[in-house]
Amino acid sequence: MSIICIFCEIVKNTEPADIIWEDRYSICFAPLKMESFGHVLVLPKRHVKDIFVADKSDLTKIAGALKAVSKILKSKLGATGVNIFNANDHSAQQSVNHLHFHVIPRFPDDKLDLWPHFPKKKFDKKQILKSLIKKYD
Ligand SMILES: [Zn+2]
Repeated sequence: MSIICIFCEIVKNTEPADIIWEDRYSICFAPLKMESFGHVLVLPKRHVKDIFVADKSDLTKIAGALKAVSKILKSKLGATGVNIFNANDHSAQQSVNHLHFHVIPRFPDDKLDLWPHFPKKKFDKKQILKSLIKKYD
């Protein structure tokens, strides 16, 4: 049984989408549900589930695509900034298992508050950093 990837179907042009920009490796289109003014999706054309399995080349190319699309949102919609969101794995609320980035154009006084509001939880920062920081001695 193969699982159909809706984003791969859009890349193959077997599913309709409002394509805004593309190059050989990446594509940008409007999501079915545009969450905010000018919200778009940017993804690699090659099926890759998430950042954990993407290779460096995938990420280099998608970074270039994110810059190109951000500049389009600035020049065509008058955005003064962008937020770029990405989720990897179900635990991080990834909804489509094809690496993708949400690009949200921002405008002065747009009243969007897109910075996460984390629940107050206690954790041992020193213990976490002990696991993360590489020691060179
Ligand atoms: Zn796919």
